[in-house]
Amino acid sequence: AQIAEAVRLHQRVTRKQAMARAVELLHLVAIPQPERRVNQYPHEFSGGMRQRAVIAMAVANDPDLLIADEPTTALDVTVQAQILAVLRSLQERLGLGLVLITHDLGVVAGHADRVAVVYSGRVVEQAGVSELFADPRHPYTRGLIASIPNLEESRERLFSIDGSPPALGRLPGGCAFYPRCIYAAARCRTEDPPLHDVGGRFSACHFATTLPPFHSAVLAAASLDSGDVAP
Ligand code: SF4
Repeated sequence: AQIAEAVRLHQRVTRKQAMARAVELLHLVAIPQPERRVNQYPHEFSGGMRQRAVIAMAVANDPDLLIADEPTTALDVTVQAQILAVLRSLQERLGLGLVLITHDLGVVAGHADRVAVVYSGRVVEQAGVSELFADPRHPYTRGLIASIPNLEESRERLFSIDGSPPALGRLPGGCAFYPRCIYAAARCRTEDPPLHDVGGRFSACHFATTLPPFHSAVLAAASLDSGDVAP
């Protein structure tokens, strides 16, 4: 009924046609036996199936763009892989643009073409997924990547970015990342760096082109040892 409602709100169709479209949509998101399932209540679906039903609602009216905000949060890894496969398949079959909002860098690495990293409500870096992971040009992105556990390294402590994100109502002057940045210099305190072109990609850091080569282990060690790495 919820899926059919999304159809009826936007299209001139009868109740019966909307239910037929709901069956079609459940089939599209790989729900088995959609003719039977369409009459069930949400509590009769598993978590992964409910997530697919929500995706079915989202694509019910043939959008050009699908914005999926944390679509795999609270799902186990198997179901997460299934949901991402459904999104990928919809993207290809319906020609959808897909904006995936996630904190999971593994999901980003495996599914994104282009990545925008957001800090304090602003895009601070934007690049193709391969170049972003190989050579991040913003210190916040570097911190995020360095904090991913690496099974090939033995480290007593995982890297973390010191401090907490600032309250949006009380952003520091200058660069919003300044209080937490291991590359910060005096001008960062007063000059807010704009997002600018760095050879076909974008960074909002004064030192985007002069940051030292990135190696997550080196960054983590430097940060833990001294708390300060000059650009
Ligand atoms: S502008 Fe300065 S404080 Fe901001 S991210 Fe770059 S180095 Fe760090």
